[in-house]
Amino acid sequence: LFAGETEFLKGVVAMNGLPDADRLEVCFAGRSNVGKSSLINALTGTKGIARASNTPGRTQEINFFTQGPELYLVDLPGYGYANAPLKVVEQWQKLLKRYLSGRQNLRRAFVLIDSRHGVKAVDAEIMKLLDSSAVTFQCVMTKADKVKEKDRAKVLEQVKDALSKHPAAYPEIVLTSSEKGDGIATLRSIIANL
Ligand code: GDP
Repeated sequence: LFAGETEFLKGVVAMNGLPDADRLEVCFAGRSNVGKSSLINALTGTKGIARASNTPGRTQEINFFTQGPELYLVDLPGYGYANAPLKVVEQWQKLLKRYLSGRQNLRRAFVLIDSRHGVKAVDAEIMKLLDSSAVTFQCVMTKADKVKEKDRAKVLEQVKDALSKHPAAYPEIVLTSSEKGDGIATLRSIIANL
């Protein structure tokens, strides 16, 4: 599945712009700066590909990447920007809701959580949205290299506790470091097994 090339397909701002639901699809969600672009880059081994999602103007779009001919990787807009205007937030929430509830080839959402910070209120909001859309989601801890062993355990407990409140949560948590490469192969095989 990951042998093929990764290419940016398109940024979508409305439901009618979605590509055909003709292949396996997984999406990635997370607070801005959680390490989403770095993770997608590490996952695909394509440096700089997910940077497209972080360029101004692209940040409110749902960005589609083709990974070979059989897989779409979808980069959802980062949430939790301090200064985003309410109208913009409302608009992308509406699009996000529609996308999540209407996309039949979407097999799993990966919700990225910073290993240092655990689940924040905005993350819980997204999880609620995934619950109500019946999209199974799995937590991916990012920047694992930035925390000490003992602190990591504490955060993991907090994450597990948060997940127990969400019916759509898949219980296995994936620890990753895009910097060191930890957990990347695991995440690839999780996707390949869907
Ligand atoms: P995004 O806004 O969620 O796409 O976040 P980025 O991928 O742009 O990463 C935000 C910052 O965190 C950047 O400075 C990255 O270099 C850094 N970062 C991302 N992943 C890791 C990681 O696994 N380890 C470390 N130490 N830093 C990371």
